[in-house]
Amino acid sequence: MQQNYSTVEFENAYTYSGSDLGAVWSQKNTSFRVWAPTALNASVRIYRSGTEGTDDLAAELPMTPAEKGTWYGTLDGDWNGFYYTYVITLSGKTVEACDPYARSTGVNGKRAMILNLADINPEGWDQDKNPNAEIPITDAVIYELHVRDLSIDRHSGIQSKGKFLGLTETGTKIRSGHSTGLDHIRSLGITHLHLLPFYDYGSVDESKPEKAQFNWGYDPVNFNVPEGSYSTDPFHGEVRVRELKQMIKKLHDNGISVVMDVVYNHVYRTREFCFNQIVPDYFSRFNEKGTLSNGSCCGNDTASERSMVRKYIVDSVNYWANEYHIDGFRFDLVGLIDTDTINEIMETTHRNRPDVIFYGEGWDMPTVLTKTEVKLTIQKNADIVPGFAFFNDTIRDAVRGSVFETSALGFVSGNPKCREQIDNCYLGSPGWTNNPKQIINYVSCHDNHTLYDRLAVSLPNASREELIRRSNLGAAINLLCPGVPFFQAGEELLRTKPGRNGERIHNSYRSSDRVNSLKWEHLNDPEVEKTLQYYRGLIRLRKANPALRYADTVSVSGNIQKVASSDPLTAVYMIYGSNIRFLIAFNAGQSEFMLPLPDGTWNIHVQDSEASDSVIARAKSCAAVAPISALVLSQYKER
Ligand code: CA
Repeated sequence: MQQNYSTVEFENAYTYSGSDLGAVWSQKNTSFRVWAPTALNASVRIYRSGTEGTDDLAAELPMTPAEKGTWYGTLDGDWNGFYYTYVITLSGKTVEACDPYARSTGVNGKRAMILNLADINPEGWDQDKNPNAEIPITDAVIYELHVRDLSIDRHSGIQSKGKFLGLTETGTKIRSGHSTGLDHIRSLGITHLHLLPFYDYGSVDESKPEKAQFNWGYDPVNFNVPEGSYSTDPFHGEVRVRELKQMIKKLHDNGISVVMDVVYNHVYRTREFCFNQIVPDYFSRFNEKGTLSNGSCCGNDTASERSMVRKYIVDSVNYWANEYHIDGFRFDLVGLIDTDTINEIMETTHRNRPDVIFYGEGWDMPTVLTKTEVKLTIQKNADIVPGFAFFNDTIRDAVRGSVFETSALGFVSGNPKCREQIDNCYLGSPGWTNNPKQIINYVSCHDNHTLYDRLAVSLPNASREELIRRSNLGAAINLLCPGVPFFQAGEELLRTKPGRNGERIHNSYRSSDRVNSLKWEHLNDPEVEKTLQYYRGLIRLRKANPALRYADTVSVSGNIQKVASSDPLTAVYMIYGSNIRFLIAFNAGQSEFMLPLPDGTWNIHVQDSEASDSVIARAKSCAAVAPISALVLSQYKER
């Protein structure tokens, strides 16, 4: 049966294109439609509570076969706030499953909820919009954060620790007066807050909120439901919806757009996933022997090339963009998803929301496709998914060393062989696209060591001062490069993920809060405070100057030049703007070098451990580039 799902005959007979899948509530009645083409019978069970196993059945509604493999039923009356499941009889078995189109659920995502969504919108929701809707993606500065990490530390000064609401608190401080949480994020000058998965995932038991549990959340259970453990009450499905919207509203009110990390490429438990229960194995790719394709290394790969999987993913992204006002989507392992699905997602989302941005991990992973002539959303196919950006592993590995070998050195840790790749990135060609709008530059994210830890692991004899200089140099290279800058929360606080025995954790997906949380009291260290100022200055400098964030290929190639330098541990570029030019020098070496300056006086913006959009010093004829540091100068010129 599995292989038949992908035939033309099956798809012609059973591709449903309507927009009423799931429970559609009105005061008069609620209608249900589920796609279950292989079912022999289907019905809806209505419950009073959302907790699986509770004996509180309120009604049972038989469904009738309807068009294109769907089953349909209508229940009279106002059922807002009730919960439901589908009971599906298949050849040889009967299953009770949650609705793949559930809008919310009870605890741990077992029972779907009938919900009048408009009822629970925060005040002003109708007027709520993306505060950065007008800017191109190359003007964005993206900050990657886990909801719990922000607030869970006992020094955070935030009341709602580990919750969506923690991101709504302002005026929060550590005892010495340094701002934390939302105020800290706002003060950085970032435009987009990218949050690790906050759809309903399976690895945290929502029924035990008092227990310290942590997971990144790359284990999706209900794709259209907010995660319950981030709400103050996971048992009542409306609470997670309300609190997530409050968080988004507050971020928007503070000028910050919200990017959602979405993981459509695999599911938590293949056969427990509700879609796969209702239509056995439909959602997942199997090879000819009947075993699961596992390019994701998470046990299963999503068969996005099948018509009703594609529709499901397209519907899901549109739902988040329209119902929750999400401003961007980061696709986990998008290299497992076909380009037709990604293009349909972007095209349909942009009809209502042309401002939504899309990017993802375009790694080329081995996966077993269920159809022929399917193209996957990998870096080298960038030109057939215009509008979709990819993480730039070229700059990541060039700056800090190959991700596959933790002791490998990168340019900022003193490896001259990496300069060529830095040059390529600054000249706009990391190797798989020349379009700056398709390049997400980064030198740290939740995966692998933090930037500081990586430097410390690969340079075991370096002093703290040296590691800070190297970290700052990496930040300058990342934040001033053409493309879209992205960094992991806490990079600006020299974030580290310490193990119990002095080791540095490189994969903290289920480590404790002690490892993962942002340690706000580190701001009491003047070196950390200084690093934070350095990041703020770099971001202000980038935002103040269009020449540092060109949005198209021609502008990058026509206005950025490499300046020859004989030392392979230095990299120098000249960048021309309409009435200004920038000279940018990166020195990864242990000694100072003298940079010759053409034509008169230059204004210095970045020097040693200082960075600013304003002028911090002036220089003429030549300027010293301190050991392990960046130097950025500008000069106005008449056209
Ligand atoms: Ca969950």
